[in-house]
Amino acid sequence: MDLKKLANALIPDKDLLSIEEYEKIYPERQLAPKAEVTRLAPSPTGFIHLGNLYTGLANERLAHTTDGVFYLRIEDTDEKRKVDGAVESVIRSLKYFGVAFDEGAEIDSPLNKYGPYYQRQRAKIYRAFAKDLIERGFAYPCFCTEDELNAVREKQTAEKQTTGYYGKYAKCRNLTEDEIYKNLAEGKKFVIRLKSQGNIENKSLFRDAIKGEITVTENDQDIVILKSDGIPTYHFAHAIDDHFMHTTLVIRGEEWIASLPVHIELHKVLGFKLPRYAHSSSLMKMDGETKRKLSKRKDPELSLDYYRKSGYFPLAVVKYLMTLLNSDFEEWSLKNPDADYRDFKFRIEKMSRSGALFDLDKLNDVSRTEISKLSAEQCFDFLNGWVQEFGTDGDRAHFKDKEYIIKILELIMGIGGKKRRKDIERAEQGVRFIDYFFDDTFAPEYSYRFDKQTVNTVIDGFIKTYDIADDNNAWFAKVKAIAPSVGFASETSEYRANPEAFKGSVSDVAEILRIAVTGMANSPDLCTIMRILGKERTIMRLKKAKLN
Ligand code: GLU
Repeated sequence: MDLKKLANALIPDKDLLSIEEYEKIYPERQLAPKAEVTRLAPSPTGFIHLGNLYTGLANERLAHTTDGVFYLRIEDTDEKRKVDGAVESVIRSLKYFGVAFDEGAEIDSPLNKYGPYYQRQRAKIYRAFAKDLIERGFAYPCFCTEDELNAVREKQTAEKQTTGYYGKYAKCRNLTEDEIYKNLAEGKKFVIRLKSQGNIENKSLFRDAIKGEITVTENDQDIVILKSDGIPTYHFAHAIDDHFMHTTLVIRGEEWIASLPVHIELHKVLGFKLPRYAHSSSLMKMDGETKRKLSKRKDPELSLDYYRKSGYFPLAVVKYLMTLLNSDFEEWSLKNPDADYRDFKFRIEKMSRSGALFDLDKLNDVSRTEISKLSAEQCFDFLNGWVQEFGTDGDRAHFKDKEYIIKILELIMGIGGKKRRKDIERAEQGVRFIDYFFDDTFAPEYSYRFDKQTVNTVIDGFIKTYDIADDNNAWFAKVKAIAPSVGFASETSEYRANPEAFKGSVSDVAEILRIAVTGMANSPDLCTIMRILGKERTIMRLKKAKLN
């Protein structure tokens, strides 16, 4: 058969470059000898999830700890399953978690010399290679219809055979030249298939950079490489892209191990060197007593939007994933609590071979610790970021007054003080904790433990002497001074020595004032709260809090 003629008949494009010319367009990268070139290559068929961030982070770390390159490629060959907004979600999410690409789709970078980074925009390159494979006898046209393929699959299933297009089932593999041209003349639709050279009897050892040695069986499936619309399949496209983008290491989910035989054969027939592959184990969770994979359907925590919406501190999510990715990260982190996680020497050898257990309680722990390390300014930025996207209109109005919020945060988070608050794990909690500083969200419950006469006397007594200029000592002296007017002890020690002699003590006076001003029996330092609220607002609250 004249294969050159066949290739021209099947792929008549006049504007394809030669393989050599493509090689010149995408020359070797000039990088240090051990530099890794890695990528995140999502298909925009759904929303990016924790698993993508997990492997994305590993790829990013390996590129950036070796002075390499981490790039974003969009594998959009499957138009039917495309989901609007998926690409934006990848970019926004990775940015939110501080995982930075050096080049790629939608990345504004002078390094973008290996694009386009959307596979659909690279159709010509794939067609040039498909044509070359046809000319060399490694690919052929297949005219089977959807119905015919379904019938074969049903038969295979019934006979308990492996499904697919291979061996005796690969009908079009043996079409004669006449049959092919007759089909073409009739305008029959066709796809281009790989003419597999493999035999499933042949098994060999393959070195996976995470799993170690694994046994792989040769591929014998004549997989589709170009679909009838001329667009490649993911398998074909990704091999060509990894070659031209000079990927050195592919870290991806272990669900891709099943495709490894096809990928190995494709690289072989295309004449490419295989990148190193590293198949990472899936994220698992405990469901009662059993360990299972995180599932899209059952586990909202698999979606990355879950973390943004719930207001997790992004660095905490990243650090937690680092503990799952590298078994010695946690220890390093404990020894270097203030170090940037990027200073940790990430090693692929330390990645877990079996499923990593994802535990929300542990993540919450890391989140609390990270939030407790923020400066007031960082804390404002974090909460404000969440408020702008997910808060109420009221929250957004509150956050316009940055100076006021910073003062509140310093107080309630204990910033600059001796004791940092360590119970805030998510932005929303933090935002709700400051609600009582604003009149529109101040919803007090006046649950005093004393009668009307006592409460009102305390409040009136305080209003009479209150001076916003008082320091904490002067303020407390005034609180003490009120105690005798309601039969309370001015000193706690006095009260403890003789509790029957008093209705209460100075701390009960403070509690009444606290409930009046904050609506709560427990709060951070009340004198400071009053100073932040200002004289007018404090007095107004005190007056409103009297019982009638
Ligand atoms: N596009 C594939 C995915 O959606 C990428 C697989 C790979 O990394 O080779 O996950």
